[in-house]
Amino acid sequence: MGSCLFCKIAAKEIPSQFIFEDGEALVFKDINPKAPTHVLVVPKKHIARLSASTDGDRALLGHLQRVAARVAESLGLDSFRLVTNNGVGAGQTVDHLHYHLMGGRAMQWPPG
Ligand code: 5GP
Ligand code: ZN
Repeated sequence: MGSCLFCKIAAKEIPSQFIFEDGEALVFKDINPKAPTHVLVVPKKHIARLSASTDGDRALLGHLQRVAARVAESLGLDSFRLVTNNGVGAGQTVDHLHYHLMGGRAMQWPPG
């Protein structure tokens, strides 16, 4: 996955503002934030999108949600939104699974 942007960020080949990192996951600030807090929760493993995950990724997917919850708590967010855009039609622009963790303002529902 040599050309994948988030694989390069995970490999520290491209700088980003890291919030959290462990063996399987990393969290870094979105370069174009859409909320006062907007970070990306990303697996180090290259998975193009949620629909490209397999049953073998179940533990990793669960881990990512726990990381999101812990990071939200560490950032002082009691209300937040966790969302993934799966496919171009849903707004996905980077083909490496990521969850947007957003908070710090009122959220609209449904999202556009
Ligand atoms: P998507 O549109 O795929 O759901 O989300 C991709 C996100 O990645 C966007 O919110 C965009 O601002 C962010 N992004 C794109 N390039 C970079 C980058 O080089 N660094 C960081 N930190 N975020 C990026
Ligand atoms: Zn990747």
